[in-house]
Amino acid sequence: MPYVLDATAIRAGMSIQEKGQFFTTPGVIGEIRKGPVARSLELAVEISLTVTEPGDAARKKVMEAARKTGDDGRLSETDMEILALAWEMKAVLVSDDYSVQNVAAVLKIPIQGNLDGIRKVINWTFRCRGCGKYYDEMQPDCPICGAEVRTVRRKD
Ligand SMILES: [Zn+2]
Repeated sequence: MPYVLDATAIRAGMSIQEKGQFFTTPGVIGEIRKGPVARSLELAVEISLTVTEPGDAARKKVMEAARKTGDDGRLSETDMEILALAWEMKAVLVSDDYSVQNVAAVLKIPIQGNLDGIRKVINWTFRCRGCGKYYDEMQPDCPICGAEVRTVRRKD
């Protein structure tokens, strides 16, 4: 099952373990690179998140749906892109944005808005390289020893 991830999903600490399953758009990557966790996510994103753009037909479809629900004014260009990509790929869209979810419902795009739920699907956790402590959420640095925290596959 392919997943399309928005910036919130990736920023929440999404690490992508299985190649070819996870997609996002250039706009989302642009937003993430502006954020504070850009450095730690850079590697994961470049290794296994496929960055691709939706076609014009899909964009048009999303635009029409957003106009119908009245969400067109609330959706950013990036929101439109991820919706179009998810629609085009018949993927599950991962976003907790209300307007995105609203339009996704109209287009019958399956949506995963619960980031804890997606964490279980992707099966990952975070571990300090220094002291080895595990964290449920991405930390810029380990709160205990200050070392780099990396994304690792959850062992269960
Ligand atoms: Zn540590």
